[in-house]
Amino acid sequence: MSEKLSVNRSTFDQVILPVYAPAQFVPVKGKGSRVWDQQGREYIDFSGGIAVTALGHCHPALVAALKQQGETLWHTSNVFTNEPALRLASKLIAATFADRVFFANSGAEANEAAFKLARHYAVTRHSPYKTKIIAFHNAFHGRTLFTVSVGGQPKYSDGFGPKPADIVHVPFNDLAAVKAVMDDHTCAVVMEPIQGEGGITVAEMAFLKGVRELCNQYQALLVFDEVQSGMGRSGKLFTYMHLGVTPDILTTAKALGGGFPVSAMLTTEEIASVMQVGTHGTTYGGNPLACAVAEAALDVINTPEVLNGIEHRHGVFVQALQKIDRKYGVFSDIRGLGLLIGAELKAEYRGKARDFLTAAAARGLMILNAGPDVIRFAPSLVVELEDIEEGMALFELAVQDVINA
Ligand SMILES: *Cc1c(COP(=O)(O)O)cnc(C)c1O
Repeated sequence: MSEKLSVNRSTFDQVILPVYAPAQFVPVKGKGSRVWDQQGREYIDFSGGIAVTALGHCHPALVAALKQQGETLWHTSNVFTNEPALRLASKLIAATFADRVFFANSGAEANEAAFKLARHYAVTRHSPYKTKIIAFHNAFHGRTLFTVSVGGQPKYSDGFGPKPADIVHVPFNDLAAVKAVMDDHTCAVVMEPIQGEGGITVAEMAFLKGVRELCNQYQALLVFDEVQSGMGRSGKLFTYMHLGVTPDILTTAKALGGGFPVSAMLTTEEIASVMQVGTHGTTYGGNPLACAVAEAALDVINTPEVLNGIEHRHGVFVQALQKIDRKYGVFSDIRGLGLLIGAELKAEYRGKARDFLTAAAARGLMILNAGPDVIRFAPSLVVELEDIEEGMALFELAVQDVINA
């Protein structure tokens, strides 16, 4: 029998690689939009595990799928296929533009697959020199060396030696800047339709349409990283459905498994056809346990009951934030789509987003930042209205605490 060690927040500083700065409390239990810590203290969760627990904690449909599959078959590797993966892929295809799916375990891995596919497609179909990737400042695509290099935040990619080459970054929502670097050597334009980590910036429709047209003109692929913005977060299953522009490759992760690690890359038959047995792969990708949970999450999220409730909740959040701003004058902008909402801090609070997180946690509220200047809300898509009201009252207290500090 394994011995149950006594651990707490200070254990973190002794045993975990020091790449995170977690909150001072340790969550031990969650239900819906509520979380409890080691001391039994209750929190309202507007962080959603960074836009992951889209149906809240321990949603009954996900727990049932996990238990059922957990007692049936966990893992086979891709030497064998499995029913949950085949069902999940079929449902994702039925719900989107895509004809083919590749499963992986994290957002970064789905993006790694997407970028490799985009380059392989261009090299196979067009020319060995068609390898340039156009990406955007402030973009975030994950933490592998390729994905941090395509990401537009040098603080994440510097200090690890030579980076993958032939990647250029231009300002987001700037069509002229894309046009200036687009050429026949470009294999792909990669973007988050809503920049998440970069500060909750929604792509403008005219910009997206223009990029789509440039991609068509130069035979480059349009890759949408919907790792954060997908699976209902924006109020539609995927954000591209809001914005009226269809990508050639789309990645999704975070909410896909509702908290169980799983990701997917979706693409068309034509693009998928350049891949052969052995061109790419993963051991865990598409394992039965992950796919069974993701199938249950998709079945719940992709329904009018869930999707149609998101717009209303968005309005409730934004109104509460506006009310707080009228009283305390802390925000310079409130933006986002669906339940991915950013409140940008006014000049005098710039760089202090983390102070608001700390104050909120002390008041019993879990929220996120998106960079140093933006407070981010990414709650459960089915968060109860009473929880929003109660959580926003706690947020107001946290704002007072920061102002008075
Ligand atoms: C979180 C995120 C990723 C990385 O996902 P991981 O699961 O952490 O690898 C990639 N792209 C976007 C847009 C994200 O928000």
